Amino acid sequence: MTAAFPTPPAGTLEPGVYIVATPIGNLGDITLRAIDVLRGAALVACEDTRVAGKLLKHLGIKARLQRLDDHASPETRARIIDEARQMPVALVSDAGTPLISDPGFRLVREARARGVTVTSIPGPCAAISALAMAGLPSDRFLFAGFLPVKDKARVETLESLAGVAATLVFYETAPRLERSLAAIAELWPAREVAVARELTKLHEECRTGTAASLAAHYAVHPPKGEIVLLVGPPGVDEAPAPDTDALLRAALAEAGPGKAAGIVAKATGVDRATLYARALELKGG
Ligand code: SAM
Repeated sequence: MTAAFPTPPAGTLEPGVYIVATPIGNLGDITLRAIDVLRGAALVACEDTRVAGKLLKHLGIKARLQRLDDHASPETRARIIDEARQMPVALVSDAGTPLISDPGFRLVREARARGVTVTSIPGPCAAISALAMAGLPSDRFLFAGFLPVKDKARVETLESLAGVAATLVFYETAPRLERSLAAIAELWPAREVAVARELTKLHEECRTGTAASLAAHYAVHPPKGEIVLLVGPPGVDEAPAPDTDALLRAALAEAGPGKAAGIVAKATGVDRATLYARALELKGG
């Protein structure tokens, strides 16, 4: 049996890099292990010292902070890794799990390459929370980070994901939600979409519908706060519309308009009266 809280008490952590997930809104979501590690770390590498300082203050922890954002120099990373070889170094981002659309990838990669132990202290992650609550298929998903800002690049990125048989998960911002929903409505009008907003916070909401219906909602209620946008996988709804003209022509070669309309209606589910009217047109033409 494993101990309930296997992290050693503060001050006795092994050297290494500890990737520590922090709350995405609700401070109550910090884990007991995260607190232990932050308390025991000799250094906390963080995306923004002010943001990390606030969290640590809330936890009553005094720590030495070192900024580590996407612009950190190789020398800064090397210094942090050197320290991690001798003592515990925690890595936090502004919110959620470091490396998930947040800094840390290079540090972790280089630390591992140099034989320094890397441990993950799991916790909040907006993508996972959104996926868990949206009611879209969760057995396969593809996390694609932020969509590009420019319209053309955004559409190209979406198009490149069209054939992925999984729920797509994007990070989104309130000002860009409208354009992303418009692009999705155009490309995939039938897919189920979810907008998960302000997760773990007072105004948390998760809305589902087609991209067009969500766009209509947010046109009237402009979204605020932080957003995860999810798009369900391609489904049966999305099968290309049947070429009913071709089917009718084939049926008309064998049968009259009434029977042909009946056959095609049965095969496609399209309304029989509509097909009958079209069959008469095709026969007349
Ligand atoms: N590393 C973080 C994580 O694990 O979720 C994500 C950092 S990324 C820079 C910030 C984006 O995550 C936001 O723009 C939003 O798309 C998403 N996000 C973060 N917190 C959120 C929340 N409380 N509700 C909804 N989305 C959130």
